[in-house]
Amino acid sequence: MDWTPIRTQHGNGAVEPNLRDYDAVRSAFSWASIRDELAGLPEGRGLNIAYEAVDRHAASDRADYVALRWRGNDGETLALTYCDLKVRTNRFANVLRGLGIDEGETVCSLLGRMPSLYVAALGTLKAKGVYCPLFAAFGPEPVYQRMSRGEAAAVVTTERLYEKRVAPLRDRLSHLRHVLLVDTDAPRDGNVWSLPRQMEQASTDFVIPPTDPEDHALLHFTSGTTGMPKGALHVHEAVLMHYMTGKYALDLHPDDTFWCTADPGWVTGTSYGIIAPLLHGVTNVVDAADFDAERWYRILESEQVTVWYTAPTAIRMLMRVGGTPKETYDLSRLRLVCSVGEPLNPEAVVWGQKNLGPPIHDNWWQTETGGIMIANLPALDIHPGSMGRPLPGVEAEIVKSTDDHAEVLSPGEEGELALRTGWPSMFRGYLHEEERYQKCFVDDWYLTGDLARKDEDGYFWFVGRADDIIKTSGHMVSPFEVESALMEHDAVAEAGVVGIPDEMSGELVKAFVALNPEYTPSDELRRTLLGFARTKLGAAVAPKAIAFKDDLPKTKSGKIMRRLLRARELGEPEGDLSTLETAS
Ligand code: AMP
Repeated sequence: MDWTPIRTQHGNGAVEPNLRDYDAVRSAFSWASIRDELAGLPEGRGLNIAYEAVDRHAASDRADYVALRWRGNDGETLALTYCDLKVRTNRFANVLRGLGIDEGETVCSLLGRMPSLYVAALGTLKAKGVYCPLFAAFGPEPVYQRMSRGEAAAVVTTERLYEKRVAPLRDRLSHLRHVLLVDTDAPRDGNVWSLPRQMEQASTDFVIPPTDPEDHALLHFTSGTTGMPKGALHVHEAVLMHYMTGKYALDLHPDDTFWCTADPGWVTGTSYGIIAPLLHGVTNVVDAADFDAERWYRILESEQVTVWYTAPTAIRMLMRVGGTPKETYDLSRLRLVCSVGEPLNPEAVVWGQKNLGPPIHDNWWQTETGGIMIANLPALDIHPGSMGRPLPGVEAEIVKSTDDHAEVLSPGEEGELALRTGWPSMFRGYLHEEERYQKCFVDDWYLTGDLARKDEDGYFWFVGRADDIIKTSGHMVSPFEVESALMEHDAVAEAGVVGIPDEMSGELVKAFVALNPEYTPSDELRRTLLGFARTKLGAAVAPKAIAFKDDLPKTKSGKIMRRLLRARELGEPEGDLSTLETAS
C-alpha cells in the first residue's frame, strides 16, 4: 500500500528546527563553516573530538550543566556535569600515560552502559589513543578476534567480564599490556589494575597533545562475509560530521535532553550515544538496563527526554507490548524520535505518531560512514518506509558499478547505494586490509554494499544488502564468523549460515550444518551445538536455529552458496545456478 507523506510539526510551535530550508542549507553548505562552529584545540594545536565534546563546554558557562545523567540497574543515578567529565577524562588520560600507553595505541572497552565507559572513551581520545568499543555480550571468540586484530594495548572492563572473556585469552593476546578493572579495589598480577585506585592517584590536569584532524581516533569493527571482522578506522576530523548531524538530523538545541538507546559497543552508541550530544552541550541520558517497555516509557517521562534516538527492533518490541503510552505517560516533552540500523516499516512510523506523539524519522548510515548520511530530516515531510534524503554536505546516488567505473542510475532504478567520497567521518581504512578498503571505492564513489533506489523526490528507499551480512536485532553478524565457530565442534564438517526474515529481530541467524560421518542428527546434538555456539560467540551473535543437511550447496570453487540455502529455506526462486557444483 502507498503511504501518504507525513508533514511534520515542530515542538508544538515551541522549537524551530535547525534546518528549515533543506535546499538553501544544502546549497550554501561548507565543511569549513561547520569547522568554524567548533573551537579547535587552544593555540591552533589541531582538532580533538574529546576537547570539542567536553573541555570546550567545561571552559564555558555550560561547565556546571549536566552532561551525563546515568541510571543504574537498581535505581541508582549519577549526574556528571561538563566540568566533572573534564576532570574524570583528564584523570583517565593521565592513567593511560602513567601506564605507558602511547599515542596511536588501541584502548578497548568491554563494558555495559556504565559511567566508566564514557570516561574511558573520552579520556582515551584526549590521550590520543584509538578508542575501540567491544560489545559486552560478545563471547570470548568475537572478543579475541577484535582485540587481536586491533592490537589492543589496554582494556577497560569489569572483574566478571575479565575473568570470563579476557583472562582465558591473555597468552594469545600478545599486544595486551594492561587491564583496568572498574569494579575492584586492589591490583593483581599481570598488570591488572583497579581503575578507581589509578584514577584517585592521577592528576586532574591534562593538556591534550597537538592533534591532527587526520590522527586516528576510533576503531569500530563491522562484519564481513568472507573473513573475520573488519576494523574500520576513523579520525578526529569525524567530529565535524558528528556535530553537523547532531545539529541537522537530531536537531539538538541547547536545552534538549537526549537519549540514545544504542549500546555503546556499536558505532551508533559511540557517535550518537557519546559524542554528538556532548558536542552540542546537551544532557545525555544513559540507562544501564536492557529493554523493558515500561522502564523506557518512565525514562522518557521522568527525564523529560526531548530527542530520542532508537532502533527498529526496539520500536517493534514497543509495538508488540501495546498499550497507550501517550495517555499512560507524560511524553509531552518528546519532540523528535529518530531510528537507525534496519529498515523501519511504515506502520512503525505511523505508530510513533499515534502512540508517542512525534512520528518516527528513519535514517541511514553504517560503521564505515561514521555518521548519519541519509535521514528524514525534521523539516522535511516524512515518507514512511523511506530512509530520507542526504544530509547537507553528503552526496548520495544509486549506481551500477564495474571494477573501474560507477554509472549513476536514474530515479526509480534499483542499484547500489553510493556516496561521493570526502565527508569527514569517512573511514580511513580497514585495519591491516588495504586491498579490501580500496575495493570499496570506484571513481569518486564509496560503495556501501546496500541495494536501494531513489525516487523522483530525492528520497532513498532501502532494498536489501548486496552481500550475505545478517542484521539481527540491530547487530551485524558475519556468517563467516558463525560458521568458523561451529566448525570448531568435532561433530561439524561444514556449516552455512544465513539470515531468515523474522518479525521481531529483523533477521534470525540460522545455521545449516553437515555432520562428520561418525555423528548422526538428533535434537540433543542440535541443542549441544546451539549451546556450543552461544558459549563461544555470545547470545547476540550465535545462531538461534540449526538444521542438519547431508550436503551443503557449493560453487565450483568450493564456497558454500548461502544465497541458495536461504532461497531454498524460504521457497524463493533459486536464481542463477551456473556456478553450482553439487546438485544438492
Ligand atoms: P552497521 O555498520 O552495523 O551500523 O550497519 C549498517 C547497515 O545497517 C547498513 O549498511 C544497512 O544495511 C543497515 N541499515 C542501517 N540503517 C538502515 C535503515 N535506516 N534502513 C535499512 N537498513 C539500514
